Amino acid sequence: MFRSLHIKLTMILLLLITSLMAVVGAFLTTSVSSFYINTFYEQINDVFSQSTFLNSLRRVAPESDAATQIQKMVDANAGALGIDYRTRNYYILDASGAYLTGSDDEGGQSLESTANLLAAENGNVGDESDITADYMDAAIPITDGTADSDVLYIIYFLDSKGTVSDLNSRLFMIIVQALIIGLLISLLLSFLLSKAMVGPIEKLTAGAEKVAAGDFGSKLPVESSDEIGVLTGTFNDMAGVLQETLAAVENERNKLDTLFLHMTDGVVAFDHDGLLIHSNPAATTMLGRELGQGCTYDELFADVYPFSQMLSLQRPNYAEGELQIDGRSLELYLAPFSSDQESGGVLIVVHDVTEQHRNEERRKEFVANVSHELRTPLTNVRSYAETLRDAGDDIPRETADSFLDIIMTETDRMTSIVQDLLTLSRLDAGNAEMNLSRFPFRDAIESVSRANALECKRRCQEFTCIAPDDLPLITGDRSRLEQVMMNIIGNAIKYTPDGGHIGVTAGTTEEKVWMEVSDDGIGIPEKDRERIFDRFYRVDKARSRQYGGTGLGLSIAKEIVDRHHGTIRIVPKHTPGTTIRLTLPIHQDPAD
Ligand code: ADP
Repeated sequence: MFRSLHIKLTMILLLLITSLMAVVGAFLTTSVSSFYINTFYEQINDVFSQSTFLNSLRRVAPESDAATQIQKMVDANAGALGIDYRTRNYYILDASGAYLTGSDDEGGQSLESTANLLAAENGNVGDESDITADYMDAAIPITDGTADSDVLYIIYFLDSKGTVSDLNSRLFMIIVQALIIGLLISLLLSFLLSKAMVGPIEKLTAGAEKVAAGDFGSKLPVESSDEIGVLTGTFNDMAGVLQETLAAVENERNKLDTLFLHMTDGVVAFDHDGLLIHSNPAATTMLGRELGQGCTYDELFADVYPFSQMLSLQRPNYAEGELQIDGRSLELYLAPFSSDQESGGVLIVVHDVTEQHRNEERRKEFVANVSHELRTPLTNVRSYAETLRDAGDDIPRETADSFLDIIMTETDRMTSIVQDLLTLSRLDAGNAEMNLSRFPFRDAIESVSRANALECKRRCQEFTCIAPDDLPLITGDRSRLEQVMMNIIGNAIKYTPDGGHIGVTAGTTEEKVWMEVSDDGIGIPEKDRERIFDRFYRVDKARSRQYGGTGLGLSIAKEIVDRHHGTIRIVPKHTPGTTIRLTLPIHQDPAD
């Protein structure tokens, strides 16, 4: 209940009332005193300025019972002189100041010699007032009225200020009572005032506490149009703006969080002490370790760029670096994110360039392979053509024919390489059109098997084809899929010695059809199995070339199968030879 504002208000009001009463009291008592003194001297002056009264006094002064007559005359004017015979008395003294008679015999015996009395003894009217004295007096010298006559009597008025003291005491009591009532009223007032003022402020404080706790929803009621009402309205507006701003900031933060979470580049941030403050999943994957609390810059990137130098970099400058982790090539962009020492730190964007490097390598390798594959037949063609030209008619007809045969074979080889490259480049560019149709999978297998049967026979190889009658229709580019089958079966024949066995089987699983081509030929060594779908990759270059192979057949097959959303792979087996399995979906999504 006794909030500080309440106490302050009460104290202010109490102080105000007390000081007001003190001032009023002091003013009143002083005024009353000076009024009383002034009245005292005015009354005496009024009476003694009457010439008839003064002349009467002077006339009786020389007489023997002058003191008694003077007393009578003064008594007659007692009312006008304010003599109450209690606090104010008069004394008739002789010229030396000795008491003769008066209104107070007892007091008259012990009169003090005051300045006014001395003045009267010297023949002057003693009416000097002294506000500090606890009495007031006046002394009037009485002569016989002739010039230079001596003072015969002195009428001395003495007021003990009892009345004024009583009055002042009464006043003081009234002021004390007023002060007590005033204090009580001020207490009540301060309570009511503080209730009226502190109430809305308390509500405002409660509202501010709610806002500080994050509750922006509740609005404070504006109950008045005074300053507190205006403040409450402004507070409501401020809370609204704060809510909107926070929502916008939250929204931005969510966006950034989502961005960080799903971006393919890794992002890692360190504070100015080099301690990890943020990382995204991509960074964890790329750096190949858990990025938890306590992880430091120096543990991860000290070799790339010293942390202290990073912090001293001026924005927008940044540093670049590279890192090799678990066979992955990482490109790093390091930048300070604030020039402020306290809130500063370093942000690192990690970009995985492994695939890029690998592709670059593959591209170089591919270009080298193409050059090499074309140069060999070209060299052959050129050397045989030169020999034919140089020999002229000297060369026997059969030799010339065999040379020409070689030239034609090499030319055919170059043509098939160029054709294969063209097919691949069209497939790569995505503009090799697929003529999709529904056709029986079994028909395609039989047609390719028939085309190869003759070659098998020529090489005394046993060829078997077991395909169930109920193989379904599939959707695909029949001629390209037959090209794939031709390549697989052709390879099986090529890489199986004469007299070997080639078997084709087919079947259905769920929504897919499959075809397996097995042979008991030379097989593919374990280490090469991964790479035989690479362009120009051949296990045995000489042997492949001997059979007219370009090393592009399986890569083209893989591209075609990929375009049909199928798979082509080597089936692991323990018996000699190779088994290649082709799987294709029965239906193709026309949208693809
Ligand atoms: P190529 O025109 O040289 O046959 P492919 O791309 O068709 O090219 O085959 C790539 C390589 O895979 C071949 O050079 C060969 O070494 C190997 N290969 C493919 N099929 C077989 C198989 N059935 N038996 C053994 N080796 C095979």
